[in-house]
Amino acid sequence: MTASYDPNNIFAKILRGEMPCHKVYEDDVALAFMDIMPRVDSHVLVIPKVPARGLLDMPADALGPYMQRVQKVAAAVKAATGAEGLTIQQFNESAGGQVVFHIHFHILPRFEGVALRPHTGQMEKPEVLAANAKKISAVLA
Ligand code: 5GP
Repeated sequence: MTASYDPNNIFAKILRGEMPCHKVYEDDVALAFMDIMPRVDSHVLVIPKVPARGLLDMPADALGPYMQRVQKVAAAVKAATGAEGLTIQQFNESAGGQVVFHIHFHILPRFEGVALRPHTGQMEKPEVLAANAKKISAVLA
């Protein structure tokens, strides 16, 4: 059985404005912000405003609008970075690699021959996150 949604997870706190983030995009459906421990430069997370742990408990009628935002932000990340490709990831439950239990899609701009950085727990400098967020949000403005 899947555990229930915990409203005190870190992304719920970001949604409520209780924790800061480097925002890229926000509307009534979704919020996009920089991953604090990016696996590539300009690694962005897109979360829906509805509370859901993962893909399987996401209300079906909210999926379409959410995926439209994932696509919109992905296009902006590609345009802002000049990426040659994108890796888009979504993990479900610990066994599936999920660490934060509010559904999110990772958007990772990719370049030929440039590998993803390993998960080191190393936080990116705030000024780098701010500069990358500004570059991407400018495309969406
Ligand atoms: P997942 O749950 O898909 O494995 O990954 C969660 C992601 O959230 C990780 O890439 C991690 O770097 C990122 N993350 C964890 N805590 C925070 C936070 O407080 N702020 C931001 N912006 N990203 C976070």
